[in-house]
Amino acid sequence: MPEVHPVIGFYSPSEDEVIWKTRIERDLPAFQFELLEYVEEKQFVKYALVWSPPNGLLNTFENLKAVFVLGAGVDALLRDPNLPSIPIVRLEDAGMAQQMAHYVIYGVLRFQRRFEEYEDFQIIKQWKPLVHIEPIEQFSVGVMGLGAIGLVVAEQVSRLGFPVLGWSTSPKEIDGIRTFYGEDGLVRFLAEARVVVDLLPLTAATEKLINRKFLNRMSADSFLINIGRGAHLLEDDLLEALEQRVIAGAMLDVFEQEPLPLENPLWNHPKVIVTPHVSGITMPQVALDQIISNIKLLESGGTPKALVDRKKGY
Ligand code: NDP
Repeated sequence: MPEVHPVIGFYSPSEDEVIWKTRIERDLPAFQFELLEYVEEKQFVKYALVWSPPNGLLNTFENLKAVFVLGAGVDALLRDPNLPSIPIVRLEDAGMAQQMAHYVIYGVLRFQRRFEEYEDFQIIKQWKPLVHIEPIEQFSVGVMGLGAIGLVVAEQVSRLGFPVLGWSTSPKEIDGIRTFYGEDGLVRFLAEARVVVDLLPLTAATEKLINRKFLNRMSADSFLINIGRGAHLLEDDLLEALEQRVIAGAMLDVFEQEPLPLENPLWNHPKVIVTPHVSGITMPQVALDQIISNIKLLESGGTPKALVDRKKGY
């Protein structure tokens, strides 16, 4: 009888499975690596590593013990109505926080130093120093979501000298950062922030949060950076707010529909910077370090780190 190995199954439309297979086979030799769509003996699948699997797929593996998501956000997975009731483990930072801090720093400096205007001047070869630069002490950056990524972003922006505000569900005390929470806290947070950075997870409470009412609470000279989820923002409300100068501009990495449709007016809006969902890219080797150590924890009877709270939705 050939020896039967438990299986670690993999599903991702965007990742190169060879990288994942090589590490899993090296570091977890008791397991066999297989692609979830092609597993024949489904009863041997013990763990699944997934990004955006089709609804219902995970429920076909009756002995599945845990699901590992190859990203920080779990909104897409939690929408599967047949998701089995087993632990879901996500990536916690895994190299994304640093990338996202750099993305935000680029946006904040671009807005504060008025680089957009110089880009326009260069096109028409206009030599025009803009002497009015706002002191950074007056240019507050507000980070919505103070989790694994938001906290790193807030701390790195603060280190540059910008005043940083943070908003989360629960009250927090963080050195050098003024924190707010709840609905009342949001009103004060939005009134003060010159740049509002969305780093929230997508849940019932955060879907369509950035709507007309929200944008009206921001100041007319403020900017929005959305690197959380596209479904947080009502794009039509943003376009209207830009048109009516309710806010000054936006830098968007995530959209209601991705890829952003060609006819979407955000593509060529003069006050909007568009990037294709790249602010925090999964770094396979760092992600694998986390996943492998969590599988080892589970195998030795422990509790994995970065467990998703299914009730909270993140
Ligand atoms: P975490 O789960 O670690 O943190 C989430 C934070 O959001 C927590 O501080 C939480 O508050 C706060 N929060 C949740 N719901 C609310 C609410 N209703 N009101 C106020 N605050 C709320 O998430 P991560 O930092 O790891 O990631 C955040 C999100 O970033 C991901 O869910 C994903 O959507 C997005 N992301 C986008 C990427 C991209 O490439 N564009 C890449 C990676 C992530 P509390 O602490 O009180 O619980």
